[in-house]
Amino acid sequence: MEIKKINEWGMSIDDTLIISGPCSAETEEQVLTTARELKKAGVSIFRAGIWKPRTRPNSFEGVGNEGLDWLKTVQKETGMLVSTEVANVKHVYEALKAGVDMLWIGARTSVNPFAVQEIADALKGVDIPVFVKNPINPDLELWIGALERINQAGITRIGAIHRGFSSYERTKFRNSPQWQIPIELKNRFPDLPLICDPSHIGGTRDLIAPISQKALDLDFDGLIIEAHHNPIDAWSDAKQQITPQTLHKLLNELVKREIKPDNISLTNLEDLRFQIDQYDEDLLEIIGKRMKSVAEIGAYKKENNMTILQPNRWGDILNSRVEKGVKFDLSEKLIESIFKSIHQESINNQEIILRS
Ligand code: PEP
Ligand code: MN
Repeated sequence: MEIKKINEWGMSIDDTLIISGPCSAETEEQVLTTARELKKAGVSIFRAGIWKPRTRPNSFEGVGNEGLDWLKTVQKETGMLVSTEVANVKHVYEALKAGVDMLWIGARTSVNPFAVQEIADALKGVDIPVFVKNPINPDLELWIGALERINQAGITRIGAIHRGFSSYERTKFRNSPQWQIPIELKNRFPDLPLICDPSHIGGTRDLIAPISQKALDLDFDGLIIEAHHNPIDAWSDAKQQITPQTLHKLLNELVKREIKPDNISLTNLEDLRFQIDQYDEDLLEIIGKRMKSVAEIGAYKKENNMTILQPNRWGDILNSRVEKGVKFDLSEKLIESIFKSIHQESINNQEIILRS
Protein backbone atom coordinates (compact mmCIF):
# COMPACT_ATOMS: atom_id res chain seq x y z
CA MET A 1 0.00 0.00 0.00
CA GLU A 2 1.22 3.51 -0.78
CA ILE A 3 0.52 5.27 2.50
CA LYS A 4 1.37 8.73 3.78
CA LYS A 5 2.77 8.81 7.30
CA ILE A 6 0.75 10.98 9.61
CA ASN A 7 3.33 13.80 9.54
CA GLU A 8 2.95 13.89 5.75
CA TRP A 9 -0.79 14.53 5.87
CA GLY A 10 -0.26 18.26 5.58
CA MET A 11 -2.04 19.06 8.80
CA SER A 12 -0.64 20.55 11.94
CA ILE A 13 -0.83 17.50 14.15
CA ASP A 14 0.96 17.51 17.49
CA ASP A 15 2.73 14.32 18.40
CA THR A 16 -0.60 12.57 18.95
CA LEU A 17 -3.64 12.92 16.68
CA ILE A 18 -6.70 13.61 18.80
CA ILE A 19 -10.20 13.32 17.38
CA SER A 20 -13.10 13.98 19.71
CA GLY A 21 -16.80 14.74 19.68
CA PRO A 22 -20.08 13.08 20.46
CA CYS A 23 -21.04 9.59 19.39
CA SER A 24 -23.95 11.18 17.52
CA ALA A 25 -24.92 14.64 16.43
CA GLU A 26 -28.24 15.13 18.27
CA THR A 27 -29.16 18.80 18.08
CA GLU A 28 -27.46 21.90 16.75
CA GLU A 29 -27.04 23.16 20.28
CA GLN A 30 -25.46 19.91 21.53
CA VAL A 31 -23.04 19.81 18.58
CA LEU A 32 -21.99 23.43 18.95
CA THR A 33 -21.70 23.45 22.74
CA THR A 34 -19.61 20.30 22.69
CA ALA A 35 -17.44 21.59 19.83
CA ARG A 36 -16.77 24.93 21.54
CA GLU A 37 -15.74 23.19 24.76
CA LEU A 38 -13.54 20.73 22.89
CA LYS A 39 -11.84 23.56 21.07
CA LYS A 40 -11.03 25.07 24.47
CA ALA A 41 -9.66 21.68 25.52
CA GLY A 42 -7.19 21.90 22.61
CA VAL A 43 -8.89 19.47 20.24
CA SER A 44 -8.57 20.29 16.55
CA ILE A 45 -10.53 17.46 14.91
CA PHE A 46 -14.21 17.07 15.71
CA ARG A 47 -16.18 13.86 15.27
CA ALA A 48 -19.94 13.29 15.24
CA GLY A 49 -22.00 10.45 13.81
CA ILE A 50 -24.71 11.69 11.45
CA TRP A 51 -25.84 8.26 10.28
CA LYS A 52 -25.70 5.75 13.13
CA PRO A 53 -25.51 2.00 12.53
CA ARG A 54 -27.42 0.59 15.51
CA THR A 55 -27.44 -3.06 16.47
CA ARG A 56 -31.21 -3.21 17.02
CA PRO A 57 -33.93 -1.26 15.20
CA ASN A 58 -36.07 1.45 16.78
CA SER A 59 -33.21 3.22 18.51
CA PHE A 60 -31.84 6.61 17.47
CA GLU A 61 -30.31 6.17 14.00
CA GLY A 62 -28.81 9.62 13.60
CA VAL A 63 -30.17 12.95 12.45
CA GLY A 64 -29.10 12.50 8.82
CA ASN A 65 -28.31 15.33 6.39
CA GLU A 66 -29.50 18.05 8.74
CA GLY A 67 -26.49 17.37 10.99
CA LEU A 68 -24.09 18.15 8.15
CA ASP A 69 -25.09 21.81 8.37
CA TRP A 70 -24.19 21.77 12.07
CA LEU A 71 -20.76 20.37 11.19
CA LYS A 72 -20.28 23.22 8.72
CA THR A 73 -21.05 25.67 11.52
CA VAL A 74 -18.46 23.93 13.71
CA GLN A 75 -15.86 24.36 10.94
CA LYS A 76 -16.71 28.02 10.47
CA GLU A 77 -17.02 28.97 14.10
CA THR A 78 -14.18 27.01 15.67
CA GLY A 79 -11.80 26.31 12.79
CA MET A 80 -11.79 22.64 13.75
CA LEU A 81 -11.67 19.94 11.08
CA VAL A 82 -14.83 17.82 11.12
CA SER A 83 -15.27 14.11 10.54
CA THR A 84 -18.15 11.68 10.28
CA GLU A 85 -18.91 8.03 9.56
CA VAL A 86 -19.93 6.90 6.09
CA ALA A 87 -21.51 3.52 5.46
CA ASN A 88 -22.73 3.79 1.87
CA VAL A 89 -22.37 5.76 -1.35
CA LYS A 90 -25.12 8.21 -0.41
CA HIS A 91 -23.34 9.08 2.83
CA VAL A 92 -20.07 9.67 0.95
CA TYR A 93 -21.80 11.89 -1.58
CA GLU A 94 -23.60 13.96 1.07
CA ALA A 95 -20.55 14.27 3.33
CA LEU A 96 -18.30 15.40 0.45
CA LYS A 97 -20.93 17.86 -0.76
CA ALA A 98 -21.08 19.35 2.72
CA GLY A 99 -17.29 19.73 2.84
CA VAL A 100 -16.62 17.28 5.68
CA ASP A 101 -12.83 17.14 6.17
CA MET A 102 -12.32 13.49 7.11
CA LEU A 103 -14.35 10.30 6.90
CA TRP A 104 -14.34 7.07 8.81
CA ILE A 105 -15.77 3.68 7.97
CA GLY A 106 -17.41 1.99 10.95
CA ALA A 107 -16.86 -1.52 12.26
CA ARG A 108 -20.19 -2.79 10.98
CA THR A 109 -19.29 -1.62 7.48
CA SER A 110 -15.63 -2.62 7.25
CA VAL A 111 -16.77 -6.19 7.83
CA ASN A 112 -18.46 -6.17 4.40
CA PRO A 113 -16.19 -6.11 1.31
CA PHE A 114 -19.08 -5.16 -1.02
CA ALA A 115 -19.97 -2.13 1.09
CA VAL A 116 -16.33 -1.07 1.43
CA GLN A 117 -15.75 -1.46 -2.32
CA GLU A 118 -18.77 0.73 -3.10
CA ILE A 119 -17.45 3.40 -0.76
CA ALA A 120 -13.99 3.08 -2.32
CA ASP A 121 -15.46 3.50 -5.82
CA ALA A 122 -17.32 6.62 -4.67
CA LEU A 123 -14.05 8.05 -3.34
CA LYS A 124 -12.03 7.62 -6.57
CA GLY A 125 -10.29 10.87 -7.42
CA VAL A 126 -11.16 12.51 -4.09
CA ASP A 127 -8.33 13.61 -1.81
CA ILE A 128 -9.69 13.22 1.69
CA PRO A 129 -8.30 11.44 4.76
CA VAL A 130 -10.18 8.22 5.53
CA PHE A 131 -10.01 6.07 8.63
CA VAL A 132 -11.03 2.43 8.56
CA LYS A 133 -12.22 0.93 11.82
CA ASN A 134 -11.46 -2.71 12.46
CA PRO A 135 -14.27 -5.08 11.53
CA ILE A 136 -16.33 -6.24 14.51
CA ASN A 137 -14.82 -9.73 14.28
CA PRO A 138 -11.13 -10.29 15.07
CA ASP A 139 -10.05 -10.81 11.45
CA LEU A 140 -6.87 -8.94 10.62
CA GLU A 141 -6.97 -9.91 6.93
CA LEU A 142 -10.49 -8.49 6.57
CA TRP A 143 -9.34 -5.23 8.18
CA ILE A 144 -6.33 -5.06 5.85
CA GLY A 145 -8.60 -5.88 2.90
CA ALA A 146 -10.85 -2.91 3.72
CA LEU A 147 -7.81 -0.62 4.03
CA GLU A 148 -6.48 -1.88 0.69
CA ARG A 149 -9.80 -1.27 -1.07
CA ILE A 150 -9.83 2.36 0.10
CA ASN A 151 -6.14 2.77 -0.64
CA GLN A 152 -6.55 1.37 -4.17
CA ALA A 153 -9.12 4.11 -4.82
CA GLY A 154 -6.20 6.54 -4.50
CA ILE A 155 -6.62 7.51 -0.85
CA THR A 156 -3.10 7.77 0.59
CA ARG A 157 -4.03 9.70 3.71
CA ILE A 158 -5.47 6.56 5.22
CA GLY A 159 -5.50 5.42 8.84
CA ALA A 160 -6.70 2.46 10.86
CA ILE A 161 -8.86 2.78 13.96
CA HIS A 162 -8.67 0.03 16.54
CA ARG A 163 -12.06 -0.11 18.30
CA GLY A 164 -11.94 -3.65 19.71
CA PHE A 165 -13.73 -6.85 18.73
CA SER A 166 -17.15 -8.25 19.60
CA SER A 167 -17.41 -11.39 21.65
CA TYR A 168 -20.35 -13.41 22.83
CA GLU A 169 -18.99 -13.64 26.32
CA ARG A 170 -19.18 -10.58 28.54
CA THR A 171 -15.82 -9.22 29.62
CA LYS A 172 -14.95 -5.97 31.36
CA PHE A 173 -14.62 -4.46 27.88
CA ARG A 174 -17.49 -3.64 25.56
CA ASN A 175 -15.27 -4.80 22.71
CA SER A 176 -12.26 -6.89 23.57
CA PRO A 177 -9.06 -5.03 22.56
CA GLN A 178 -7.03 -8.09 21.47
CA TRP A 179 -3.98 -5.84 21.27
CA GLN A 180 -2.01 -8.45 19.37
CA ILE A 181 -4.12 -7.67 16.27
CA PRO A 182 -3.29 -3.93 15.94
CA ILE A 183 0.30 -4.78 16.91
CA GLU A 184 0.46 -7.21 14.00
CA LEU A 185 -1.10 -4.58 11.69
CA LYS A 186 1.60 -2.14 12.74
CA ASN A 187 4.30 -4.68 12.10
CA ARG A 188 2.95 -5.33 8.61
CA PHE A 189 2.39 -1.64 7.71
CA PRO A 190 4.76 0.49 9.82
CA ASP A 191 3.76 3.74 8.06
CA LEU A 192 0.01 3.26 8.45
CA PRO A 193 -1.31 5.71 11.07
CA LEU A 194 -2.94 3.73 13.85
CA ILE A 195 -5.54 5.35 16.08
CA CYS A 196 -7.14 3.85 19.18
CA ASP A 197 -10.83 4.26 20.04
CA PRO A 198 -10.91 3.64 23.81
CA SER A 199 -14.59 4.65 23.97
CA HIS A 200 -15.87 1.70 21.96
CA ILE A 201 -13.30 -0.70 23.43
CA GLY A 202 -14.09 0.22 27.04
CA GLY A 203 -17.77 1.02 26.85
CA THR A 204 -17.55 2.85 30.18
CA ARG A 205 -16.03 6.18 31.17
CA ASP A 206 -13.59 4.76 33.72
CA LEU A 207 -11.83 2.59 31.14
CA ILE A 208 -11.03 5.46 28.75
CA ALA A 209 -7.86 6.59 30.55
CA PRO A 210 -6.16 3.20 31.03
CA ILE A 211 -6.93 2.10 27.46
CA SER A 212 -5.67 5.41 26.05
CA GLN A 213 -2.45 5.10 28.02
CA LYS A 214 -1.95 1.54 26.86
CA ALA A 215 -2.44 2.63 23.24
CA LEU A 216 0.17 5.37 23.62
CA ASP A 217 2.53 2.88 25.23
CA LEU A 218 2.03 0.72 22.15
CA ASP A 219 3.09 3.66 19.98
CA PHE A 220 -0.34 4.37 18.50
CA ASP A 221 -0.46 7.60 16.50
CA GLY A 222 -3.64 8.97 18.01
CA LEU A 223 -6.90 8.59 19.86
CA ILE A 224 -10.54 9.04 18.91
CA ILE A 225 -12.55 9.66 22.06
CA GLU A 226 -16.27 10.28 22.38
CA ALA A 227 -17.11 13.48 24.25
CA HIS A 228 -20.45 15.15 24.95
CA HIS A 229 -21.24 18.31 26.89
CA ASN A 230 -23.81 16.34 28.86
CA PRO A 231 -22.85 12.65 28.55
CA ILE A 232 -25.51 11.10 30.77
CA ASP A 233 -28.23 12.46 28.51
CA ALA A 234 -26.56 11.34 25.26
CA TRP A 235 -28.87 9.69 22.74
CA SER A 236 -26.33 6.95 21.99
CA ASP A 237 -23.39 5.46 23.90
CA ALA A 238 -24.17 7.51 27.03
CA LYS A 239 -22.11 5.29 29.34
CA GLN A 240 -18.84 5.80 27.52
CA GLN A 241 -18.88 9.51 26.68
CA ILE A 242 -16.91 11.99 28.76
CA THR A 243 -17.18 15.76 29.07
CA PRO A 244 -14.75 17.97 27.17
CA GLN A 245 -13.38 19.01 30.58
CA THR A 246 -12.64 15.40 31.51
CA LEU A 247 -11.01 14.92 28.12
CA HIS A 248 -8.81 17.96 28.72
CA LYS A 249 -7.68 16.52 32.05
CA LEU A 250 -7.08 13.11 30.47
CA LEU A 251 -4.95 14.57 27.68
CA ASN A 252 -2.81 16.37 30.24
CA GLU A 253 -2.37 13.26 32.32
CA LEU A 254 -1.46 10.83 29.56
CA VAL A 255 2.21 9.99 29.64
CA LYS A 256 3.89 10.19 26.24
CA ARG A 257 6.80 7.81 26.31
CA GLU A 258 9.59 7.92 23.77
CA ILE A 259 10.51 5.11 21.45
CA LYS A 260 14.15 4.32 21.92
CA PRO A 261 16.11 6.57 19.54
CA ASP A 262 17.83 3.71 17.75
CA ASN A 263 14.51 2.06 17.03
CA ILE A 264 11.65 3.21 14.80
CA SER A 265 8.95 0.88 15.93
CA LEU A 266 7.94 -1.27 18.86
CA THR A 267 10.65 -3.50 20.17
CA ASN A 268 10.03 -7.16 19.96
CA LEU A 269 10.27 -7.43 23.70
CA GLU A 270 7.44 -4.92 24.22
CA ASP A 271 5.25 -6.76 21.70
CA LEU A 272 5.84 -10.04 23.44
CA ARG A 273 5.21 -8.61 26.90
CA PHE A 274 1.90 -7.14 25.84
CA GLN A 275 0.98 -10.47 24.35
CA ILE A 276 1.84 -12.14 27.65
CA ASP A 277 -0.29 -9.64 29.60
CA GLN A 278 -3.19 -10.51 27.31
CA TYR A 279 -2.71 -14.26 27.77
CA ASP A 280 -2.47 -13.89 31.54
CA GLU A 281 -5.70 -11.90 31.59
CA ASP A 282 -7.36 -14.72 29.62
CA LEU A 283 -5.91 -17.33 31.99
CA LEU A 284 -7.27 -15.54 35.06
CA GLU A 285 -10.69 -15.14 33.49
CA ILE A 286 -10.83 -18.86 32.65
CA ILE A 287 -9.70 -19.93 36.11
CA GLY A 288 -12.41 -17.70 37.61
CA LYS A 289 -15.01 -19.36 35.38
CA ARG A 290 -13.73 -22.82 36.34
CA MET A 291 -14.09 -21.96 40.03
CA LYS A 292 -17.71 -20.94 39.46
CA SER A 293 -18.45 -24.39 38.00
CA VAL A 294 -16.62 -25.96 40.94
CA ALA A 295 -18.92 -24.09 43.33
CA GLU A 296 -22.00 -25.37 41.47
CA ILE A 297 -20.67 -28.92 41.72
CA GLY A 298 -20.08 -28.30 45.45
CA ALA A 299 -23.75 -27.42 45.91
CA TYR A 300 -24.74 -30.56 43.99
CA LYS A 301 -22.49 -32.76 46.16
CA LYS A 302 -23.96 -31.26 49.30
CA GLU A 303 -27.52 -31.87 48.16
CA ASN A 304 -26.74 -35.48 47.19
CA ASN A 305 -24.55 -36.25 50.17
CA MET A 306 -21.46 -36.97 48.07
CA THR A 307 -17.81 -36.72 49.13
CA ILE A 308 -15.80 -33.79 47.90
CA LEU A 309 -12.98 -35.92 46.63
CA GLN A 310 -13.99 -38.35 43.92
CA PRO A 311 -10.68 -40.20 43.48
CA ASN A 312 -11.39 -41.68 40.03
CA ARG A 313 -12.44 -38.36 38.62
CA TRP A 314 -9.35 -36.60 40.01
CA GLY A 315 -7.06 -39.33 38.63
CA ASP A 316 -8.67 -38.96 35.20
CA ILE A 317 -8.32 -35.19 35.24
CA LEU A 318 -4.64 -35.28 36.12
CA ASN A 319 -3.78 -37.92 33.51
CA SER A 320 -5.74 -36.34 30.70
CA ARG A 321 -4.40 -32.82 31.42
CA VAL A 322 -0.81 -34.09 31.42
CA GLU A 323 -1.45 -35.94 28.19
CA LYS A 324 -2.94 -32.83 26.54
CA GLY A 325 -0.42 -30.42 28.04
CA VAL A 326 2.66 -32.20 26.73
CA LYS A 327 1.26 -31.71 23.22
CA PHE A 328 1.61 -27.94 23.87
CA ASP A 329 5.25 -28.50 24.88
CA LEU A 330 4.50 -28.08 28.58
CA SER A 331 6.43 -30.21 31.04
CA GLU A 332 4.65 -32.88 33.05
CA LYS A 333 5.95 -31.24 36.21
CA LEU A 334 4.39 -27.88 35.35
CA ILE A 335 1.01 -29.36 34.43
CA GLU A 336 0.90 -31.43 37.59
CA SER A 337 1.75 -28.53 39.82
CA ILE A 338 -0.79 -26.19 38.15
CA PHE A 339 -3.62 -28.72 38.34
CA LYS A 340 -2.76 -29.81 41.87
CA SER A 341 -2.99 -26.17 43.00
CA ILE A 342 -6.26 -25.64 41.16
CA HIS A 343 -7.64 -28.88 42.56
CA GLN A 344 -6.62 -27.95 46.11
CA GLU A 345 -8.35 -24.59 45.75
CA SER A 346 -11.46 -26.35 44.38
CA ILE A 347 -11.50 -28.69 47.39
CA ASN A 348 -11.16 -25.75 49.79
CA ASN A 349 -14.05 -23.97 48.10
CA GLN A 350 -16.27 -27.04 48.13
CA GLU A 351 -15.46 -27.64 51.80
CA ILE A 352 -16.79 -24.19 52.60
CA ILE A 353 -19.95 -24.98 50.64
CA LEU A 354 -20.46 -28.37 52.35
CA ARG A 355 -20.03 -26.80 55.77
CA SER A 356 -22.40 -23.92 55.09
C1 PEP B 1 -18.96 5.26 16.46
O1 PEP B 1 -17.80 5.65 16.27
O2 PEP B 1 -19.81 5.93 17.07
C2 PEP B 1 -19.31 3.90 16.03
C3 PEP B 1 -20.53 3.57 15.61
O3 PEP B 1 -18.29 3.06 16.16
P1 PEP B 1 -18.03 1.54 15.71
O4 PEP B 1 -18.19 1.51 14.24
O5 PEP B 1 -16.63 1.35 16.18
O6 PEP B 1 -19.02 0.68 16.46
MN1 MN C 1 -20.46 5.55 19.59
